[in-house]
Amino acid sequence: MNTYNRFPLRLERGSGCWVWDQDGRRFLDAVAGIATCCLGHSDRAMRRALSRQLGRLQHVSNLYNIPEQEELASWIVQHSCGDSVFFCNSGAEANEAAIKLARKHGHLRRGIERPVILTAAASFHGRTLAAVTATGQPKYHRGFEPVVDGFDYFPYNDLDAFQSLLEQHEANGPAVAAVLVEPLQGEGGVNPGDKTFFRELRRLCDAKGILLILDEVQVGMGRTGSWWGYQQLDIEPDAFSLAKGLGGGHAVGALVVRGDADVFEPGDHASTFGGNPFACRAGLTVAREIERRNLLRNVQERGTQLQEGLNLLVSHYPQLFLGVRGWGLLQGLVLRPDCGVTASDLAAAAIDHQLLLVAAGPNVLRMVPPLIISAREVRLLLKRLNAICRTTSPT
Ligand code: PLP
Repeated sequence: MNTYNRFPLRLERGSGCWVWDQDGRRFLDAVAGIATCCLGHSDRAMRRALSRQLGRLQHVSNLYNIPEQEELASWIVQHSCGDSVFFCNSGAEANEAAIKLARKHGHLRRGIERPVILTAAASFHGRTLAAVTATGQPKYHRGFEPVVDGFDYFPYNDLDAFQSLLEQHEANGPAVAAVLVEPLQGEGGVNPGDKTFFRELRRLCDAKGILLILDEVQVGMGRTGSWWGYQQLDIEPDAFSLAKGLGGGHAVGALVVRGDADVFEPGDHASTFGGNPFACRAGLTVAREIERRNLLRNVQERGTQLQEGLNLLVSHYPQLFLGVRGWGLLQGLVLRPDCGVTASDLAAAAIDHQLLLVAAGPNVLRMVPPLIISAREVRLLLKRLNAICRTTSPT
């Protein structure tokens, strides 16, 4: 169906941070399947582990216990603040699970008949009907009304506005089941969360028994240089959703829940494919390879290198850029709204320079390369970006 504006490329092969098109042209990939292929393309450990898994067992359903699923859940629980995990297949599905959990928690623990979930303006939580309603961007709702009941929105990182929205909803007693928010807004323009805002959010939620749920779909699994985005903010959520990097390019999503916030019982929620042996083997391989190859450290070092290089680029092209935002290997180059080119224009121009980039909104050019990227490849990325700026820069 006609649901995508695609770049005019047919990619057929990849290795590490590189992909080749059908004409044999080689591209440096700073998109990585939109922040998913953390081990790069055609990774040896991934190939081995998944081939072996295909030769053993691929899918049996959640009618049975699945050892790979138990192992991946244990790994997540041991490495996060969470205590239990529900597996699904995508970020939107993980957020759907979070929304259902929040509503049930609101009914049970706060006695709310019609619970409300507060989310941020400019957020992105996925495209299913509830996830897109949670997404605080009216352009994604248009044409699909009526959207789902029980959501309201506050400006991201704005404590006063959040507090007054909360007071408004809670004026006649408990009404808010949860706050669902990204630690760093990815699609909304690579906008990092503010520590003070998140600390206060945590305090306000604690005071009322409201769940604080973080959408870690884009930032989770090492992308920011720590396992989870919430570690950049020095808080712990009651639940968080995962997808993208968790499967390293395979369809795996998860909702991770802390302690007694887990109110689900058998029959409440399910997924046919969720947590299948193949998907969980992919997740386990990603987790183990990030640990074995000390990739969190690589993300920190390469992230700093990338950010410093991008800052230099901003100073060379002040007519194009306002600045750089991001954590680790999720960086956004912020364009001047009046510079005459959009982030999509630059991403399209990058193809001629054999570099893959993706926009995050109209004015932010996003860089999310594989977590394995080398210092030499970051230098090359910056060099190609510089060449793109030189050819597109208004005089
Ligand atoms: N949440 C966030 C923060 C995302 O960035 C995305 C996708 O970009 C989603 C949810 C939706 O994930 P999916 O496309 O796997 O449904």
